[in-house]
Amino acid sequence: MVRPRKIRIVQNEPEVNYFKPRRIPLSDLEKVILKIEELEAIKLKDLNGLNQKACAKKMKISRGTFQRILNSAKKKISDALINGKAIQIKGGNYRIAQKSEYCVCPICGYKEYHIRGIPCSKTKCKKCGSFMRRK
Ligand SMILES: [Zn+2]
Repeated sequence: MVRPRKIRIVQNEPEVNYFKPRRIPLSDLEKVILKIEELEAIKLKDLNGLNQKACAKKMKISRGTFQRILNSAKKKISDALINGKAIQIKGGNYRIAQKSEYCVCPICGYKEYHIRGIPCSKTKCKKCGSFMRRK
Protein backbone atom coordinates (compact mmCIF):
# COMPACT_ATOMS: atom_id res chain seq x y z
CA MET A 1 0.00 0.00 0.00
CA VAL A 2 1.17 3.48 -0.80
CA ARG A 3 1.65 5.69 2.22
CA PRO A 4 -0.49 8.84 1.97
CA ARG A 5 1.78 11.78 1.19
CA LYS A 6 1.69 14.87 3.29
CA ILE A 7 0.28 18.02 1.75
CA ARG A 8 2.81 20.83 1.36
CA ILE A 9 1.82 24.43 1.86
CA VAL A 10 2.70 26.98 -0.82
CA GLN A 11 2.00 30.73 -0.83
CA ASN A 12 0.66 30.94 -4.34
CA GLU A 13 0.67 29.25 -7.68
CA PRO A 14 3.22 30.59 -10.18
CA GLU A 15 2.06 33.10 -12.77
CA VAL A 16 4.34 31.60 -15.39
CA ASN A 17 4.25 27.86 -15.76
CA TYR A 18 6.27 27.17 -18.88
CA PHE A 19 9.83 27.82 -19.95
CA LYS A 20 11.37 26.61 -23.16
CA PRO A 21 14.57 27.09 -25.14
CA ARG A 22 14.17 29.62 -27.93
CA ARG A 23 13.55 28.60 -31.54
CA ILE A 24 12.97 24.92 -30.88
CA PRO A 25 9.36 23.84 -31.31
CA LEU A 26 7.81 22.41 -28.21
CA SER A 27 7.01 19.20 -30.04
CA ASP A 28 10.75 18.59 -30.56
CA LEU A 29 11.68 19.24 -26.97
CA GLU A 30 11.96 16.95 -24.05
CA LYS A 31 10.45 18.49 -20.99
CA VAL A 32 10.84 18.22 -17.26
CA ILE A 33 7.89 18.71 -14.97
CA LEU A 34 8.63 20.80 -11.94
CA LYS A 35 6.04 20.38 -9.21
CA ILE A 36 4.49 23.42 -7.55
CA GLU A 37 6.04 22.50 -4.21
CA GLU A 38 9.46 22.11 -5.84
CA LEU A 39 9.22 25.63 -7.20
CA GLU A 40 8.16 26.84 -3.75
CA ALA A 41 11.21 25.17 -2.19
CA ILE A 42 13.57 26.92 -4.63
CA LYS A 43 11.80 30.21 -4.02
CA LEU A 44 11.97 30.05 -0.24
CA LYS A 45 15.53 28.78 0.05
CA ASP A 46 17.43 30.15 -2.92
CA LEU A 47 15.50 33.27 -3.86
CA ASN A 48 14.23 34.47 -0.48
CA GLY A 49 17.29 33.15 1.34
CA LEU A 50 15.50 31.51 4.26
CA ASN A 51 17.28 28.78 6.16
CA GLN A 52 16.19 25.20 5.81
CA LYS A 53 14.35 25.13 9.12
CA ALA A 54 12.22 28.17 8.29
CA CYS A 55 11.49 26.82 4.82
CA ALA A 56 10.33 23.50 6.22
CA LYS A 57 8.11 25.28 8.74
CA LYS A 58 6.51 27.40 6.06
CA MET A 59 5.70 24.39 3.98
CA LYS A 60 4.70 22.42 7.09
CA ILE A 61 6.98 19.52 6.38
CA SER A 62 10.08 18.04 8.00
CA ARG A 63 13.54 19.36 7.18
CA GLY A 64 14.37 16.04 5.56
CA THR A 65 11.35 16.23 3.28
CA PHE A 66 12.14 19.85 2.46
CA GLN A 67 15.70 18.95 1.52
CA ARG A 68 14.46 16.13 -0.67
CA ILE A 69 12.03 18.42 -2.50
CA LEU A 70 14.71 21.08 -2.93
CA ASN A 71 17.24 18.59 -4.31
CA SER A 72 14.70 17.23 -6.73
CA ALA A 73 13.86 20.76 -7.92
CA LYS A 74 17.52 21.63 -8.47
CA LYS A 75 18.17 18.45 -10.35
CA LYS A 76 15.25 19.05 -12.70
CA ILE A 77 16.17 22.68 -13.35
CA SER A 78 19.81 21.76 -13.97
CA ASP A 79 18.76 19.01 -16.34
CA ALA A 80 16.64 21.49 -18.30
CA LEU A 81 19.36 24.17 -18.47
CA ILE A 82 22.22 21.84 -19.32
CA ASN A 83 20.37 19.55 -21.70
CA GLY A 84 18.11 22.15 -23.30
CA LYS A 85 14.78 20.84 -22.12
CA ALA A 86 11.55 22.72 -21.54
CA ILE A 87 10.29 23.18 -17.98
CA GLN A 88 6.63 22.87 -17.22
CA ILE A 89 5.51 23.79 -13.72
CA LYS A 90 2.45 21.92 -12.59
CA GLY A 91 0.96 19.43 -10.20
CA GLY A 92 2.37 18.01 -7.04
CA ASN A 93 0.94 17.53 -3.61
CA TYR A 94 0.22 20.95 -2.19
CA ARG A 95 -2.37 23.42 -1.08
CA ILE A 96 -2.36 27.19 -1.06
CA ALA A 97 -1.88 28.82 2.32
CA GLN A 98 -5.08 30.18 3.79
CA LYS A 99 -5.39 33.84 4.62
CA SER A 100 -5.40 33.05 8.34
CA GLU A 101 -1.92 31.68 7.89
CA TYR A 102 -0.49 35.11 7.16
CA CYS A 103 0.76 37.84 9.42
CA VAL A 104 0.05 41.35 8.18
CA CYS A 105 1.76 44.60 9.11
CA PRO A 106 -0.88 47.09 10.37
CA ILE A 107 1.32 50.01 9.32
CA CYS A 108 2.49 49.25 5.81
CA GLY A 109 0.41 46.23 4.84
CA TYR A 110 3.37 43.92 4.29
CA LYS A 111 2.27 40.29 4.39
CA GLU A 112 4.22 37.31 5.54
CA TYR A 113 3.57 33.68 6.27
CA HIS A 114 2.47 32.91 9.77
CA ILE A 115 4.76 30.30 11.28
CA ARG A 116 2.98 28.06 13.72
CA GLY A 117 4.35 28.55 17.23
CA ILE A 118 5.56 32.09 16.57
CA PRO A 119 2.77 34.62 17.17
CA CYS A 120 2.40 37.38 14.58
CA SER A 121 2.53 39.88 17.44
CA LYS A 122 6.12 38.81 18.05
CA THR A 123 7.13 38.98 14.40
CA LYS A 124 8.56 42.25 13.12
CA CYS A 125 7.63 43.59 9.70
CA LYS A 126 10.56 43.24 7.31
CA LYS A 127 9.75 46.55 5.65
CA CYS A 128 9.05 48.94 8.50
CA GLY A 129 9.91 47.08 11.70
CA SER A 130 6.44 47.27 13.28
CA PHE A 131 4.97 44.23 14.96
CA MET A 132 2.70 42.22 12.74
CA ARG A 133 -0.90 41.07 13.26
CA ARG A 134 -2.64 37.88 12.42
CA LYS A 135 -4.88 38.12 9.40
ZN1 LIG B 1 5.36 47.24 7.97
